[in-house]
Amino acid sequence: MNETVTIDRYGVMGYPVSHSRSPVIHRLFAIQTGQEMQYELLQVAPEKLDIAIRQFQRTGGKGLNITVPHKSEVARLVDQMSERARTAGAVNTIAFRGGELYGDNTDGIGLLRDLNVNLGVNLEDAGILILGAGGATRGIIGPLLEMQPALLRIANRTIEKAQYLVDHFEKIGPVAACRFDEVPVAEPYDLIINATSAGLHGDTPPYPEAAITENTFCYDLSYGLNTTPFSAWAREHGAKKSIMGWGMLVEQAAESFHLWRGIRPDTAPVLKQMHINA
Ligand code: NDP
Repeated sequence: MNETVTIDRYGVMGYPVSHSRSPVIHRLFAIQTGQEMQYELLQVAPEKLDIAIRQFQRTGGKGLNITVPHKSEVARLVDQMSERARTAGAVNTIAFRGGELYGDNTDGIGLLRDLNVNLGVNLEDAGILILGAGGATRGIIGPLLEMQPALLRIANRTIEKAQYLVDHFEKIGPVAACRFDEVPVAEPYDLIINATSAGLHGDTPPYPEAAITENTFCYDLSYGLNTTPFSAWAREHGAKKSIMGWGMLVEQAAESFHLWRGIRPDTAPVLKQMHINA
């Protein structure tokens, strides 16, 4: 008798999504931990998101990562959410549990692990500038504020979105909003995080030059085999260090993997294997 073997399916849904390295990372985690699973790239336009998630679930899907630009929308679609996803109002990980959608957000913990553990950046009393106010920013503000920075400023092209986040997070810690060309020059920044998706489209917005000093650590959430436009910009403007978001990518993936499979993979060899110490 033929026995049908079904492998647990996972994937990342985004638009665009071809740039994502998540399939490689989860394949390495699966090999390391001896898990039988497959992980797919799923390009889904915003108007098809709901249908695509349900379809994936019906056809044996066990879990999903959610990326640009769907994170906030998915927070409205899930049946239950972790506390950190609720605080963020954004979901980057779905686990399908007995017909229900459980949403989590592992971006914040992923970024903190990379900054604190892998890169040794101290955030207490730091001046932090985040460029961008989309789904990724929502996920990282709460965990960053818990590190007790002196100030966290959010600069965004669409000021209303940055202001909305300030209203949402000001009860947790000191936050402020502005446009790119309104970043106060007198405020020193220890850390500038690029959380725009501009680089994905090959754009270099007018990032605020005056915010960088030789003591500023720059971190681009975007990553690439070549230097990202923001990382190049940060280097050109004399940043102390300019790092791409590979470490965050691997760390947030490890947290998603743990949620799905109950095993936490060792991230160090995966980071090393990808030759990604930019
Ligand atoms: P969203 O689509 O939710 O938000 C996009 C943000 O980028 C908005 O603030 C938008 O501004 C801004 N933006 C887009 N294009 C431009 C432009 N040309 N000029 C100025 N601003 C622009 O995306 P996410 O927040 O989900 O993701 C943001 C980036 O972070 C992506 O590149 C993603 O790949 C990366 N990321 C990396 C992770 C990692 O693990 N390393 C984890 C999560 C995200 P506006 O509001 O004005 O439209």
